Amino acid sequence: MTARTMQALRLTEWQSDPVITEVPVPDPQASEVLVEVAAAGLCRTDLHIMSSPEGAFPYTLPFTLGHESAGHVAALGPGSSGFEVGDRVVVYSRWGCGTCWQCAQGRDNACVRTHRGAHGGGLGRDGGLADYVLVPSARYLVATPGLEPVRAAPLADAALTSYHAVKLSLPQLHSGGNAVVIGAGGLGHMAVQILKAITPARIVVVDLRSGALEMARAAGADVTLSAEGLTPEQVRAETDPDGANVVLDFVGSDTTLSLAAASVAQGGDVTFVGRGGGELRIAPGLIPYETTVRMPTWGTVEELGEVVALASAGKIHSEAEVYDFEDAVSAYGKLRQGEVLGRAVVVPGRASRVAAGLN
Ligand SMILES: [Zn+2]
Ligand SMILES: [Zn+2]
Repeated sequence: MTARTMQALRLTEWQSDPVITEVPVPDPQASEVLVEVAAAGLCRTDLHIMSSPEGAFPYTLPFTLGHESAGHVAALGPGSSGFEVGDRVVVYSRWGCGTCWQCAQGRDNACVRTHRGAHGGGLGRDGGLADYVLVPSARYLVATPGLEPVRAAPLADAALTSYHAVKLSLPQLHSGGNAVVIGAGGLGHMAVQILKAITPARIVVVDLRSGALEMARAAGADVTLSAEGLTPEQVRAETDPDGANVVLDFVGSDTTLSLAAASVAQGGDVTFVGRGGGELRIAPGLIPYETTVRMPTWGTVEELGEVVALASAGKIHSEAEVYDFEDAVSAYGKLRQGEVLGRAVVVPGRASRVAAGLN
């Protein structure tokens, strides 16, 4: 049974905080699936969206935030198949057009047609910071039978995006290879675990916060370095005098991107993931020859399945700080201040707290 209305955390104005609003519970049509949300992660991308002026994102307001959601199937449209009501799922929130060349290969994250429009649930279309989220197709759901929703939700972006970024550099991450992770927040702490789980590379982690470095060591980092006054020479001393095979920048500020460019080895990879507003300048002398620079976004549905498999096998574990729905805006404030360790996850409603395995 679904209630007629529900609470949703909606962005109603640019450059302002989202507000809790009462909205109708959607009724799934055609191939759509209604998912009751038991947990939804908060992402720095949300902060970036809500603090941006009108026109910076190709989204129309209002819409419900939340692009990391997990829960169970509540209702299926008449044309939907593959899942049953009650199935535990995590939602893939980057919804492509489904027909372009990228989407045809399952690469919704690189969809060329939705590139200049709404990007998915919580990204211009209604997302998971609500009691329910309407998903366009069952193909955007991955079953999570053995995972608690608070652990499953961050897999949808924090783990998926990190996994996709690491996978792109697998040929570099051989035995004896090394990876530098800059920023051990929501994504970076997952990247450390993923590097540990799927590569034999040595892992060096850089962050300003001692708590984040501590969490990175617990997650499998071989070395942690304080970003305070850190020089590329100090990074090289911990990787290889010739530089790092792969530098994954989950911050993306001018400072961290300069550090990445100066720390990478000739022929290495610089992967620019964080949206910290920085620029990476490419020119001879600024970055070594034969360097590959990547700017990935999300991952594929197939990769979300792989991430869920890693989590189900206990190989990766998302650290979550859990907040009530009413506290979502203040949780965003803590995220903005860098006070969240791991991922901030919001649990909508009392019933959902039970479903999330919290009480
Ligand atoms: Zn995100
Ligand atoms: Zn497409």
